Amino acid sequence: MPNESGLRQCDCGSYIKLKDMIDIAEDENSNLPRLSQIPGHLLQDCIKQSKDEDMEVLARFAYWRHANHEYREIYKAHREAEERENQMIWDSWQKETQSWWKRTLRLPTPAYARSATSRFTVPPFEPSDLQIENMTILSDKLLSLQKKSPKSYALDLAELYRELGSFEDAQVQISKVPESEAGNTSRVITEYIEKRETALIRFRM
Ligand SMILES: [Zn+2]
Repeated sequence: MPNESGLRQCDCGSYIKLKDMIDIAEDENSNLPRLSQIPGHLLQDCIKQSKDEDMEVLARFAYWRHANHEYREIYKAHREAEERENQMIWDSWQKETQSWWKRTLRLPTPAYARSATSRFTVPPFEPSDLQIENMTILSDKLLSLQKKSPKSYALDLAELYRELGSFEDAQVQISKVPESEAGNTSRVITEYIEKRETALIRFRM
């Protein structure tokens, strides 16, 4: 799990909010059930079993991050494979163009360095129907929470709307981000909203 979800799974299979657990731990510190992080493949189940709105929001946040984390792993593997290919092309080009006298003198081939012309592609970011449904429901829920507390979740909402391609809504939210929360993350999100880009950014939030 990339981030702290605030949720755990109990030995018995039920899902628990850490917030609720603290109260129990204070009451009776013997025979506490064993709790573990909820694995990604159970997060949809956790959403369905949510006992209240608060828990559902946490579970939907966790599922959103989990799904994005999976894409970042694919991205990393894709980039590494392409770089290996770039290096192979470069190495064989070095050998082919190595002049007779260099070979004779047995000069070492120079080490590989990325050039501006090296291939740089990224795997497509195509959220599944389940991911889109989750992002849509999560953003609706955060938006109604925001009505009670203006500016709350503005950064999350900006990023959710951006990934969903709702750039107008993303723009409205990013302009609500309080000064104290503005930083590199909000700058990059702003830049991607302006570019009308839905691709995942390589940071965790
Ligand atoms: Zn239990």
